[in-house]
Amino acid sequence: STRIFSGVKPTGHLTLGNYLGAIRQWVETDQHRADALFCVVDLHALTVEHDPARVRRLSRQAATLFLAAGLDPELCTLFVQSHVDEHTRLSYLLECTATDGEMRRMIQYKEKSARERESGGSVRLSLLTYPVLMAADILAYGADEVPVGEDQAQHVELTRDLAVRFNQRYGHTFTVPKAVLPTVAARVMDLQDPTSKMGKSHAETAGIVYLLDEPDVVRKKIMRAVTDSGTDVAYDREARPGVANLLEILSACTGGEPEHLAAGYDSYGALKKDTAEAVLEVLRPLQERHAALTADPAYVDSVLRQGAERARELARPTVDAAYRAMGLLPSV
Ligand code: ATP
Ligand code: MG
Repeated sequence: STRIFSGVKPTGHLTLGNYLGAIRQWVETDQHRADALFCVVDLHALTVEHDPARVRRLSRQAATLFLAAGLDPELCTLFVQSHVDEHTRLSYLLECTATDGEMRRMIQYKEKSARERESGGSVRLSLLTYPVLMAADILAYGADEVPVGEDQAQHVELTRDLAVRFNQRYGHTFTVPKAVLPTVAARVMDLQDPTSKMGKSHAETAGIVYLLDEPDVVRKKIMRAVTDSGTDVAYDREARPGVANLLEILSACTGGEPEHLAAGYDSYGALKKDTAEAVLEVLRPLQERHAALTADPAYVDSVLRQGAERARELARPTVDAAYRAMGLLPSV
Protein backbone atom coordinates (compact mmCIF):
# COMPACT_ATOMS: atom_id res chain seq x y z
CA SER A 1 0.00 0.00 0.00
CA THR A 2 1.01 3.64 -0.29
CA ARG A 3 3.21 4.92 2.54
CA ILE A 4 2.93 8.58 3.54
CA PHE A 5 5.16 10.66 5.80
CA SER A 6 4.77 14.27 6.85
CA GLY A 7 5.52 16.50 9.82
CA VAL A 8 5.40 19.88 11.52
CA LYS A 9 8.19 21.36 13.57
CA PRO A 10 7.52 22.80 17.03
CA THR A 11 8.98 26.26 16.32
CA GLY A 12 5.80 28.14 17.21
CA HIS A 13 2.07 27.79 17.57
CA LEU A 14 0.51 26.05 14.60
CA THR A 15 -1.06 28.34 12.01
CA LEU A 16 -3.90 28.32 9.54
CA GLY A 17 -1.19 27.82 6.88
CA ASN A 18 -0.03 24.60 8.53
CA TYR A 19 -3.61 23.38 8.68
CA LEU A 20 -4.79 24.29 5.17
CA GLY A 21 -1.44 23.50 3.54
CA ALA A 22 -0.78 20.18 5.21
CA ILE A 23 -2.71 18.85 8.22
CA ARG A 24 -6.14 19.00 6.63
CA GLN A 25 -5.07 16.68 3.81
CA TRP A 26 -3.64 14.27 6.36
CA VAL A 27 -6.96 14.18 8.20
CA GLU A 28 -9.41 14.17 5.33
CA THR A 29 -7.70 11.86 2.87
CA ASP A 30 -4.22 10.58 3.71
CA GLN A 31 -4.96 8.66 6.90
CA HIS A 32 -7.84 6.87 5.16
CA ARG A 33 -6.14 5.89 1.93
CA ALA A 34 -2.61 4.98 2.97
CA ASP A 35 -0.27 3.79 5.69
CA ALA A 36 0.45 7.26 6.99
CA LEU A 37 2.96 8.52 9.57
CA PHE A 38 2.70 12.02 10.99
CA CYS A 39 5.48 13.42 13.08
CA VAL A 40 6.26 16.30 15.40
CA VAL A 41 9.73 16.93 13.98
CA ASP A 42 11.28 18.37 17.12
CA LEU A 43 14.93 17.99 16.11
CA HIS A 44 14.26 20.49 13.34
CA ALA A 45 13.15 23.03 15.94
CA LEU A 46 16.71 23.10 17.31
CA THR A 47 18.10 24.53 14.06
CA VAL A 48 17.25 28.10 15.10
CA GLU A 49 17.37 30.04 18.40
CA HIS A 50 15.18 28.07 20.77
CA ASP A 51 14.10 27.87 24.36
CA PRO A 52 14.15 24.25 25.60
CA ALA A 53 11.05 24.56 27.79
CA ARG A 54 9.12 26.18 24.95
CA VAL A 55 10.08 23.51 22.43
CA ARG A 56 8.92 20.85 24.88
CA ARG A 57 5.61 22.64 25.38
CA LEU A 58 5.09 23.23 21.68
CA SER A 59 5.85 19.60 20.85
CA ARG A 60 3.10 18.41 23.15
CA GLN A 61 0.78 21.07 21.82
CA ALA A 62 1.45 20.10 18.20
CA ALA A 63 0.73 16.43 18.95
CA THR A 64 -2.46 17.43 20.75
CA LEU A 65 -3.50 19.55 17.76
CA PHE A 66 -2.86 16.65 15.38
CA LEU A 67 -5.41 14.67 17.37
CA ALA A 68 -7.74 17.65 17.71
CA ALA A 69 -7.65 18.18 13.95
CA GLY A 70 -8.93 14.63 13.53
CA LEU A 71 -5.94 12.36 13.08
CA ASP A 72 -6.97 8.99 14.44
CA PRO A 73 -4.29 6.80 16.04
CA GLU A 74 -6.30 3.78 14.92
CA LEU A 75 -5.77 4.84 11.32
CA CYS A 76 -2.32 6.41 11.30
CA THR A 77 0.93 6.59 13.25
CA LEU A 78 1.59 9.71 15.33
CA PHE A 79 4.96 10.22 16.94
CA VAL A 80 7.78 12.55 17.91
CA GLN A 81 10.91 12.53 15.75
CA SER A 82 13.43 12.49 18.61
CA HIS A 83 11.82 9.33 20.02
CA VAL A 84 13.08 7.38 17.02
CA ASP A 85 16.89 7.31 16.70
CA GLU A 86 16.76 6.08 13.11
CA HIS A 87 16.24 9.65 11.84
CA THR A 88 19.63 10.88 13.03
CA ARG A 89 21.37 7.62 12.15
CA LEU A 90 20.21 7.90 8.58
CA SER A 91 20.80 11.63 8.43
CA TYR A 92 24.54 11.09 8.77
CA LEU A 93 24.64 8.66 5.86
CA LEU A 94 22.74 11.15 3.74
CA GLU A 95 25.19 13.91 4.73
CA CYS A 96 27.74 11.67 3.08
CA THR A 97 25.53 11.57 -0.02
CA ALA A 98 24.64 15.27 -0.36
CA THR A 99 26.96 18.15 -1.24
CA ASP A 100 27.39 21.48 0.51
CA GLY A 101 26.49 23.28 -2.74
CA GLU A 102 23.11 21.56 -2.79
CA MET A 103 22.42 22.71 0.75
CA ARG A 104 23.39 26.32 0.12
CA ARG A 105 21.00 26.50 -2.82
CA MET A 106 17.95 25.78 -0.68
CA ILE A 107 15.59 28.77 -0.60
CA GLN A 108 14.56 28.13 2.99
CA TYR A 109 18.20 28.11 4.10
CA LYS A 110 18.82 31.43 2.39
CA GLU A 111 15.73 32.99 3.98
CA LYS A 112 16.16 31.59 7.47
CA SER A 113 19.90 32.20 7.68
CA ALA A 114 19.34 35.80 6.58
CA ARG A 115 16.69 36.21 9.27
CA GLU A 116 18.97 34.78 11.97
CA ARG A 117 21.76 37.17 10.97
CA GLU A 118 19.39 40.16 10.85
CA SER A 119 18.26 39.49 14.40
CA GLY A 120 21.89 39.49 15.50
CA GLY A 121 22.21 35.72 15.90
CA SER A 122 24.53 33.24 14.30
CA VAL A 123 23.53 30.49 11.90
CA ARG A 124 23.58 27.00 13.33
CA LEU A 125 25.26 24.37 11.16
CA SER A 126 22.13 22.25 11.52
CA LEU A 127 20.14 24.94 9.67
CA LEU A 128 22.28 24.22 6.64
CA THR A 129 21.94 20.44 6.96
CA TYR A 130 18.23 20.55 7.90
CA PRO A 131 17.06 19.27 4.49
CA VAL A 132 19.24 16.19 4.92
CA LEU A 133 17.56 15.31 8.21
CA MET A 134 14.23 15.91 6.50
CA ALA A 135 15.27 13.53 3.73
CA ALA A 136 16.11 10.97 6.41
CA ASP A 137 12.67 11.47 7.99
CA ILE A 138 11.06 10.54 4.70
CA LEU A 139 13.42 7.86 3.37
CA ALA A 140 13.63 5.93 6.66
CA TYR A 141 9.99 4.93 6.17
CA GLY A 142 10.11 4.25 2.46
CA ALA A 143 7.46 6.91 2.00
CA ASP A 144 5.95 7.18 -1.49
CA GLU A 145 4.20 10.48 -0.87
CA VAL A 146 4.91 13.54 1.23
CA PRO A 147 1.89 15.85 1.61
CA VAL A 148 3.30 19.33 2.25
CA GLY A 149 2.73 23.00 1.51
CA GLU A 150 4.43 24.53 -1.50
CA ASP A 151 7.37 25.89 0.52
CA GLN A 152 8.56 22.34 1.23
CA ALA A 153 8.47 21.16 -2.38
CA GLN A 154 12.15 22.01 -2.93
CA HIS A 155 13.19 19.91 0.08
CA VAL A 156 11.20 16.93 -1.18
CA GLU A 157 12.86 17.38 -4.58
CA LEU A 158 16.25 17.21 -2.83
CA THR A 159 15.09 14.08 -0.99
CA ARG A 160 14.33 12.48 -4.36
CA ASP A 161 17.78 13.40 -5.67
CA LEU A 162 19.48 11.90 -2.61
CA ALA A 163 17.43 8.71 -2.82
CA VAL A 164 18.22 8.24 -6.50
CA ARG A 165 21.93 8.98 -5.96
CA PHE A 166 22.19 6.62 -3.00
CA ASN A 167 20.40 3.85 -4.89
CA GLN A 168 22.67 4.27 -7.92
CA ARG A 169 25.88 4.23 -5.89
CA TYR A 170 25.11 1.63 -3.26
CA GLY A 171 22.27 -0.47 -4.64
CA HIS A 172 18.55 -0.08 -4.36
CA THR A 173 17.75 0.92 -0.77
CA PHE A 174 15.22 3.76 -0.80
CA THR A 175 11.81 4.40 -2.27
CA VAL A 176 11.91 7.64 -4.28
CA PRO A 177 9.12 9.81 -2.82
CA LYS A 178 7.10 12.62 -4.34
CA ALA A 179 5.59 15.77 -2.85
CA VAL A 180 1.81 16.11 -2.89
CA LEU A 181 0.54 19.69 -2.67
CA PRO A 182 -3.04 20.77 -1.91
CA THR A 183 -4.91 22.22 -4.91
CA VAL A 184 -5.84 25.38 -3.02
CA ALA A 185 -4.06 27.16 -0.12
CA ALA A 186 -0.74 25.44 -0.81
CA ARG A 187 0.86 28.72 0.22
CA VAL A 188 -1.18 30.78 2.68
CA MET A 189 0.32 34.26 2.85
CA ASP A 190 0.85 36.52 5.85
CA LEU A 191 -2.19 38.78 6.26
CA GLN A 192 0.01 41.83 6.91
CA ASP A 193 2.57 41.00 4.23
CA PRO A 194 0.81 39.04 1.50
CA THR A 195 3.99 38.59 -0.50
CA SER A 196 5.53 36.39 2.20
CA LYS A 197 4.35 33.04 3.51
CA MET A 198 2.48 32.83 6.81
CA GLY A 199 5.00 31.10 9.09
CA LYS A 200 4.57 30.05 12.71
CA SER A 201 8.07 31.15 13.72
CA HIS A 202 7.77 34.73 12.43
CA ALA A 203 8.17 37.47 15.02
CA GLU A 204 5.43 39.74 13.65
CA THR A 205 2.21 38.00 14.64
CA ALA A 206 -0.51 40.43 13.46
CA GLY A 207 -0.70 38.72 10.06
CA ILE A 208 -0.74 35.15 11.38
CA VAL A 209 -3.88 33.22 12.31
CA TYR A 210 -2.97 30.62 14.91
CA LEU A 211 -5.16 27.55 15.24
CA LEU A 212 -5.70 28.34 18.93
CA ASP A 213 -6.45 32.07 18.53
CA GLU A 214 -9.63 33.27 20.24
CA PRO A 215 -12.49 33.99 17.79
CA ASP A 216 -12.27 37.74 18.36
CA VAL A 217 -8.56 37.70 17.66
CA VAL A 218 -9.14 35.77 14.42
CA ARG A 219 -11.81 38.28 13.34
CA LYS A 220 -9.57 41.24 14.13
CA LYS A 221 -6.58 39.81 12.26
CA ILE A 222 -8.62 39.03 9.15
CA MET A 223 -10.54 42.34 9.18
CA ARG A 224 -7.19 44.17 9.38
CA ALA A 225 -5.58 42.14 6.60
CA VAL A 226 -3.65 44.26 4.13
CA THR A 227 -5.58 44.45 0.87
CA ASP A 228 -4.51 45.96 -2.42
CA SER A 229 -5.15 49.35 -3.97
CA GLY A 230 -8.27 49.21 -6.06
CA THR A 231 -11.66 48.33 -4.70
CA ASP A 232 -13.16 45.61 -6.88
CA VAL A 233 -12.66 42.04 -5.79
CA ALA A 234 -10.70 40.01 -8.34
CA TYR A 235 -8.55 36.89 -8.05
CA ASP A 236 -5.05 37.75 -9.24
CA ARG A 237 -2.12 36.39 -7.21
CA GLU A 238 0.45 38.61 -8.91
CA ALA A 239 -1.32 41.96 -9.04
CA ARG A 240 -3.58 41.54 -5.98
CA PRO A 241 -1.79 39.26 -3.51
CA GLY A 242 -3.72 40.44 -0.44
CA VAL A 243 -7.18 39.87 -1.90
CA ALA A 244 -6.07 36.66 -3.60
CA ASN A 245 -4.87 35.33 -0.24
CA LEU A 246 -8.25 36.03 1.38
CA LEU A 247 -10.05 34.40 -1.56
CA GLU A 248 -7.85 31.31 -1.28
CA ILE A 249 -8.45 31.04 2.44
CA LEU A 250 -12.19 31.43 1.89
CA SER A 251 -12.04 28.90 -0.92
CA ALA A 252 -10.13 26.38 1.19
CA CYS A 253 -12.65 26.77 4.03
CA THR A 254 -15.86 26.70 1.97
CA GLY A 255 -14.98 24.64 -1.10
CA GLY A 256 -15.76 27.21 -3.81
CA GLU A 257 -13.25 28.24 -6.49
CA PRO A 258 -11.38 31.51 -5.74
CA GLU A 259 -12.23 33.04 -9.17
CA HIS A 260 -15.85 32.15 -8.73
CA LEU A 261 -16.01 33.44 -5.14
CA ALA A 262 -14.48 36.76 -6.24
CA ALA A 263 -17.45 37.45 -8.48
CA GLY A 264 -19.76 37.37 -5.46
CA TYR A 265 -18.17 40.37 -3.72
CA ASP A 266 -18.11 44.07 -4.43
CA SER A 267 -16.25 45.19 -1.30
CA TYR A 268 -13.20 44.09 0.63
CA GLY A 269 -15.10 44.46 3.89
CA ALA A 270 -17.69 41.84 2.97
CA LEU A 271 -15.00 39.46 1.72
CA LYS A 272 -13.07 39.81 4.98
CA LYS A 273 -16.16 39.30 7.09
CA ASP A 274 -17.12 36.09 5.28
CA THR A 275 -13.54 34.84 5.32
CA ALA A 276 -13.30 35.39 9.08
CA GLU A 277 -16.53 33.49 9.70
CA ALA A 278 -15.49 30.64 7.39
CA VAL A 279 -12.16 30.30 9.20
CA LEU A 280 -13.93 30.29 12.56
CA GLU A 281 -16.22 27.48 11.36
CA VAL A 282 -13.13 25.42 10.60
CA LEU A 283 -11.35 26.28 13.86
CA ARG A 284 -14.26 25.84 16.27
CA PRO A 285 -14.45 22.02 16.40
CA LEU A 286 -10.67 21.79 16.43
CA GLN A 287 -10.41 24.15 19.39
CA GLU A 288 -13.13 22.27 21.27
CA ARG A 289 -11.36 18.95 20.84
CA HIS A 290 -8.05 20.54 21.76
CA ALA A 291 -9.52 21.78 25.05
CA ALA A 292 -10.83 18.31 25.85
CA LEU A 293 -7.53 16.63 24.98
CA THR A 294 -5.38 18.95 27.09
CA ALA A 295 -7.34 17.63 30.07
CA ASP A 296 -5.96 14.16 29.28
CA PRO A 297 -2.18 14.39 28.76
CA ALA A 298 -1.74 10.69 29.62
CA TYR A 299 -3.77 9.79 26.54
CA VAL A 300 -1.59 11.95 24.30
CA ASP A 301 1.52 10.35 25.86
CA SER A 302 0.24 6.87 25.19
CA VAL A 303 -0.54 7.70 21.55
CA LEU A 304 3.00 9.04 21.10
CA ARG A 305 4.57 6.04 22.84
CA GLN A 306 2.77 3.55 20.62
CA GLY A 307 3.46 5.67 17.56
CA ALA A 308 7.20 5.74 18.27
CA GLU A 309 7.25 1.97 18.76
CA ARG A 310 5.68 1.35 15.39
CA ALA A 311 7.85 3.98 13.70
CA ARG A 312 11.01 2.38 15.11
CA GLU A 313 9.98 -1.02 13.81
CA LEU A 314 9.36 0.36 10.34
CA ALA A 315 12.51 2.47 10.10
CA ARG A 316 15.03 0.09 11.62
CA PRO A 317 15.38 -2.40 8.73
CA THR A 318 15.69 0.32 6.08
CA VAL A 319 18.31 2.26 8.02
CA ASP A 320 20.25 -0.92 8.84
CA ALA A 321 20.22 -1.81 5.15
CA ALA A 322 21.56 1.64 4.30
CA TYR A 323 24.41 1.18 6.81
CA ARG A 324 25.41 -2.09 5.18
CA ALA A 325 25.02 -0.76 1.65
CA MET A 326 27.38 2.14 2.41
CA GLY A 327 30.12 -0.14 3.65
CA LEU A 328 29.78 -0.06 7.42
CA LEU A 329 30.76 -3.29 9.11
CA PRO A 330 27.74 -4.93 10.78
CA SER A 331 28.11 -5.34 14.52
CA VAL A 332 27.71 -8.98 15.53
P1 ATP B 1 8.54 27.79 10.41
O1 ATP B 1 8.28 29.27 10.33
O2 ATP B 1 9.19 27.38 11.70
O3 ATP B 1 9.24 27.23 9.22
P2 ATP B 1 6.04 26.85 9.30
O4 ATP B 1 4.78 27.52 9.65
O5 ATP B 1 6.66 27.12 7.98
O6 ATP B 1 7.09 27.12 10.48
P3 ATP B 1 6.70 24.03 9.14
O7 ATP B 1 6.80 23.20 10.37
O8 ATP B 1 7.97 24.50 8.50
O9 ATP B 1 5.76 25.29 9.47
O10 ATP B 1 5.86 23.26 8.05
C1 ATP B 1 4.84 22.32 8.39
C2 ATP B 1 3.96 22.07 7.19
O11 ATP B 1 3.10 23.20 6.97
C3 ATP B 1 4.72 21.88 5.87
O12 ATP B 1 4.05 20.90 5.11
C4 ATP B 1 4.62 23.22 5.22
O13 ATP B 1 4.75 23.15 3.81
C5 ATP B 1 3.22 23.64 5.62
N1 ATP B 1 3.10 25.10 5.63
C6 ATP B 1 3.79 25.95 6.43
N2 ATP B 1 3.40 27.20 6.22
C7 ATP B 1 2.44 27.15 5.24
C8 ATP B 1 1.65 28.14 4.57
N3 ATP B 1 1.79 29.42 4.87
N4 ATP B 1 0.76 27.72 3.64
C9 ATP B 1 0.64 26.42 3.34
N5 ATP B 1 1.34 25.44 3.92
C10 ATP B 1 2.25 25.79 4.87
MG1 MG C 1 8.54 26.24 7.47
